[in-house]
Amino acid sequence: MSFSWIGKSTKRVEETTGTRPDLPASLIAALADLDRWTLPNPDWEPLRLRMAMVLKAAFATGGSPVPSLEPADDQTAFLLERIREGWGEGVPAVRVVTPALDRNRLLARVKAIDNCADRDHPAAQRFHKVLVSEPERITDWAGIMLVDGEQSILPSLQQFDVEPNYALSTLRLSLLGELGDWSNRATAQLRESSWPHGDCPVCGASPALAESRGLEQRRFLRCDRCGAGWPSDRLRCPFCGENDHHALRTLFAEEDQGRCRLVLCDGCGGRLKVITSLAPLSHPGLVLAQFTMLYLDFINDASIPRETS
Ligand SMILES: [Zn+2]
Ligand SMILES: [Zn+2]
Repeated sequence: MSFSWIGKSTKRVEETTGTRPDLPASLIAALADLDRWTLPNPDWEPLRLRMAMVLKAAFATGGSPVPSLEPADDQTAFLLERIREGWGEGVPAVRVVTPALDRNRLLARVKAIDNCADRDHPAAQRFHKVLVSEPERITDWAGIMLVDGEQSILPSLQQFDVEPNYALSTLRLSLLGELGDWSNRATAQLRESSWPHGDCPVCGASPALAESRGLEQRRFLRCDRCGAGWPSDRLRCPFCGENDHHALRTLFAEEDQGRCRLVLCDGCGGRLKVITSLAPLSHPGLVLAQFTMLYLDFINDASIPRETS
């Protein structure tokens, strides 16, 4: 396996998935970035095309949660103040002001993402079955997962014989498409000291990755359920608070170390992927970053896999 992700790809994703002029700029930029990545080998090429389809399914249209938290909305100043008070007490924003999601819109997004799945995949088949027969169940799961976390819907997923990884990642991506802008508005006034926790200040999820942002390489954690970003201490594990530098180890592939790395915590076994970025990653950019760092799951202390041929 080679880690030279940056390069010239042989085929533009847009040739296969089609371009639409009305797509959001952040999505167009992410699709262009996807084009620039070279995959480890030709077998991975279908994955690139699928990723392009997934990005479009999730982010082609914006969300419309209520209350909107738009500056023009009369209630917004009051609600943002309540959210800030919640942060002072360690409570994530969605448990103070719970956004109502448009069920039809959410469902359309879930269906679009589910349509990108390989229909021969048993996990996709089982989720699809529930999506067709009980669509309201799917939107219930998304709503409960947003406020109470992923653990809270596991028994119900099991009851419906739905494979958790597939369902949770589809729901997470759907919520990110619905809530990303709302989350940005909620965190616009987040101060450095307002939220000293590792979990997301908007929805309470564990961070999906970290950015090492700008020339100063300041650490920001990012949530892949709502898209929030919040400042963090780079010498502290966001999962358990460990700050002994001996307990935090960094792994990377030599060819790609300037772009991304994996921090392992001996205290809790937590794994945090860190990506270098000049500016905050957009929501499609966040999903793309996860995709291009997947290989970090396969490196460990003892051996970094390399291409043998
Ligand atoms: Zn979140
Ligand atoms: Zn830890």
